[in-house]
Amino acid sequence: MIDQTVITNALPSHFLMGKGALQQAKSYFDGYSKIFILLDENIQRFCMPVFQQLLPDLNVHSVIQVKSGEINKNIQTAISIWEQLTSLHADRDSLLINLGGGVITDIGGFVAATFKRGIDFINIPTTLLGQVDASIGGKTGIDFHEFKNQLGLFTYPKLVIIDPVFLQTLEEIHWKSGFSETLKYALIMDNDLWKAIDNRHYQELNADWNSIIIKAAHDKINIVKQDGFEQGIRKILNFGHTVGHALETFFLKTDHPITHGEAVAAGMVCETRISTQLSKLSDKSAIEIYNEIDKNFDRLSFSKNNFSELLRLMTQDKKVREGHLKFSLLKKLGEATYDINVSSSLVIKSLEFYLAK
Ligand code: NAD
Repeated sequence: MIDQTVITNALPSHFLMGKGALQQAKSYFDGYSKIFILLDENIQRFCMPVFQQLLPDLNVHSVIQVKSGEINKNIQTAISIWEQLTSLHADRDSLLINLGGGVITDIGGFVAATFKRGIDFINIPTTLLGQVDASIGGKTGIDFHEFKNQLGLFTYPKLVIIDPVFLQTLEEIHWKSGFSETLKYALIMDNDLWKAIDNRHYQELNADWNSIIIKAAHDKINIVKQDGFEQGIRKILNFGHTVGHALETFFLKTDHPITHGEAVAAGMVCETRISTQLSKLSDKSAIEIYNEIDKNFDRLSFSKNNFSELLRLMTQDKKVREGHLKFSLLKKLGEATYDINVSSSLVIKSLEFYLAK
């Protein structure tokens, strides 16, 4: 079992991972004119005390607090951060620390990269989803109108500190959300991770989380290293996301929005079904996957009347090229393929399959 890893130059970012990573990061904060921390109200309450306890001597100029939630990953929040950085006289030698979940690291990276043509930023993810996925790989951005991540850029943090110490206060719904992305790595590329998950409910994995997080983060780093700008192999990370993003956007507009991971879990059920039809995934493996997802996630509640809206949202997705729906699908457990054309009728059949349970 891995306890601690330090990876340098794995990407344009450096990484410190595992228990105790934050305390090892002290020297990375040297040399900046001013240090700002971006966070939301929950992080202020739950994670700032931990941060201050572990790095008591860090000279933080100001904390910039924004409202939590996907609904606030938008241009108004970005403007408020740019305004605060301006009024607090941030300069090009300033550092922005993004302390929070994927919403904070996505918007914080975007704001840092565009402020005065780019200031350094460090990601300290505090959710499981942030630690295994969102803080790694250089994708930053905000939602615009009804579309997720519509505005943004690839830009890399100087450092990513992945310390499970922050996860102690995470709500169950967000543990599950991160588990969904963790499971995705097992399905697309990591048989050892699939074995470690071992058909269990995520709560039964307690003792193993430190090594599971490190393993999943390495999986993402390995893919991004090969294909930083998603021209090829990186697309396999989108497994579950074509249907998943449409569901996430759809539910965001209702009174009961769902998490990114819940949406991806549902998307993985549909895209596993399509994989049995188009990329030779065996029915036996598909059943194992459905069982693992159903063990952890209730099926979402929508109806056939919503199919045309979901298809419309899918065709707006960035993964659509020349009007064709292109999916990343599974060839077998632990191996994926990408850029597979999928017809609307097959997508609809997969949604019907999802609802039939
Ligand atoms: P989130 O950032 O909304 O955090 C979830 C909630 O948990 C928030 O209310 C937050 O305040 C709270 N929280 C965070 N850490 C906590 C802690 N330690 N204790 C208690 N509460 C805590 O959600 P998320 O799931 O981390 O991220 C979702 C976002 O990430 C989406 O916008 C998604 O698009 C994005 N994402 C980005 C990438 C990427 O590559 N850039 C990849 C995957 C997802």
